[in-house]
Amino acid sequence: MDAVSIAGGGVGGLTAALAFAAGGVPCTVHERRPAPAPGGFGIQRRPTRPACSSGSDLAPLWRRCRSARPRARSAAGPTAPCWAGSRSARPPRRATAPLYLTLRRADLLGVLSDALAPGTVRLGSPVDGSFRPPGLLVGADGLHSSVRGALWADEPHYIGYTAYRALLPLPPDPGPPVVTVWLGSGRHVVAYPVPGALNLVAVTAGPLEGAFESWHAPVRDLVRAAAPATQHALFTRDAPPAWQRGRVVLLGDAAHPMPPFLAQGAAQAIEDAAALALDLDGYEAARRPRVERVVAASVAGGREYHLPDGPEQRRRDERIAASGLPDQDWLYA
Ligand SMILES: Cc1cc2nc3c(=O)[nH]c(=O)nc-3n(C[C@H](O)[C@H](O)[C@H](O)COP(=O)(O)OP(=O)(O)OC[C@H]3O[C@@H](n4cnc5c(N)ncnc54)[C@H](O)[C@@H]3O)c2cc1C
Repeated sequence: MDAVSIAGGGVGGLTAALAFAAGGVPCTVHERRPAPAPGGFGIQRRPTRPACSSGSDLAPLWRRCRSARPRARSAAGPTAPCWAGSRSARPPRRATAPLYLTLRRADLLGVLSDALAPGTVRLGSPVDGSFRPPGLLVGADGLHSSVRGALWADEPHYIGYTAYRALLPLPPDPGPPVVTVWLGSGRHVVAYPVPGALNLVAVTAGPLEGAFESWHAPVRDLVRAAAPATQHALFTRDAPPAWQRGRVVLLGDAAHPMPPFLAQGAAQAIEDAAALALDLDGYEAARRPRVERVVAASVAGGREYHLPDGPEQRRRDERIAASGLPDQDWLYA
C-alpha cells in the first residue's frame, strides 16, 4: 500500500498509525494541536474484541500506561446510602486486551505517540477539507471532522446533555479501585480513580449548580468539589451514507460518534484502526454492523441511566441490585 496520511492524532489516529506501521506501511499523522495534550481528564479503556487483533500488538503499550485497574463496577441511586449493585469489572476471558484500565487521556496518547517512529506525528498540522495527499487519507479527526465535512454535508447535533468533568484529590484511604455510577432521573454521575486523582463526570441537561443538591451526601459533596467543572456539550451525528469515498476513509468519532454512556468510543476507534490496516476494501463491511450495534446500545444506555422516577426505574434498580450493571458480554464476542 502507498503511504498513508492520517488526519487527527487522537486514540483512533495513533492506533491506526501503529497498525499500518506494523504492516510496513509508512504513515504521517497530522495533528491540529500544536503540543501534546496536557494532563487531561480520565478515560475508561474497555477491553476490545478478539477479532480486532492486527499485526500491531498493543498489549505491551497498555501495560506501559499509568493506570488504575478497576476491580468492580458499582451503581447506586440518588438517595441510596449504599450500593445498589456491585460486580467484578473483570472482562470475559476471550477479550483480546483483558485489561480494563482507567487512565488519563494524555498518558494514553503519550504512550501511543512514543511507540511510533520519530517524525510520524506532525503537531500543529491542521487538515482542512481540501487536503488531498497522494495515497490514502484517513479521517481520524473526531466528532467535528473536517475530512468528513468534505465528503458529506451533515452536521453534529446536540443530544440535550452536558458532561461536567473534574479531577478531584483522591481520599486519604481510597480503597480498591471501583468505577461507580449514580443514576437518577435525567442525570447521572460517574467516578473512578486515575493515577493521582479521582475522575468525576456529571451528566445533566441543565447547569451543574443545584442539579445534584437533593442527592445523598457522597454524591452531592463530590459534585460540589468539582466546581468549577469543565463543560463538554454532548453531540452526535447521523450515520453517514458510507465511511469511505475513493481514497478517503473515516474512522473513530469521525465515522460514528456515540454518546459516552457505554464508555466505548475509544475502544471502537481502536478496533476500527486494526480492521482498516488489515483490509482496506473489507473495512466498512467488517466494522459497520458492530459499530451500529454499539452506537444503539450507547443511546439505549443513556435512556436507561436517565429513566424518570416510576415503575420502569424501580424495575431497573431491582435488576441492578440483583445482578449489578449489565456486562454487555456481546461486546467481546
Ligand atoms: C465526557 C466524555 C467522556 C468519555 N469517556 C470515554 C471513556 O471513558 N471511554 C471511551 O472509550 N470513550 C469515552 N469517550 C469517547 C471518546 O473520547 C471518543 O470516542 C474517542 O476519543 C474517539 O477517538 P478519535 O481518535 O476518533 O477522536 P478524538 O479523540 O476526538 O481525536 C481526534 C483528534 O483529531 C484532532 N483534530 C481535530 N480536527 C483536526 C484537523 N482538522 N486536523 C488535524 N487534527 C485534527 C484533535 O485535536 C484530536 O487529537 C468520552 C467522550 C466524552 C465526551
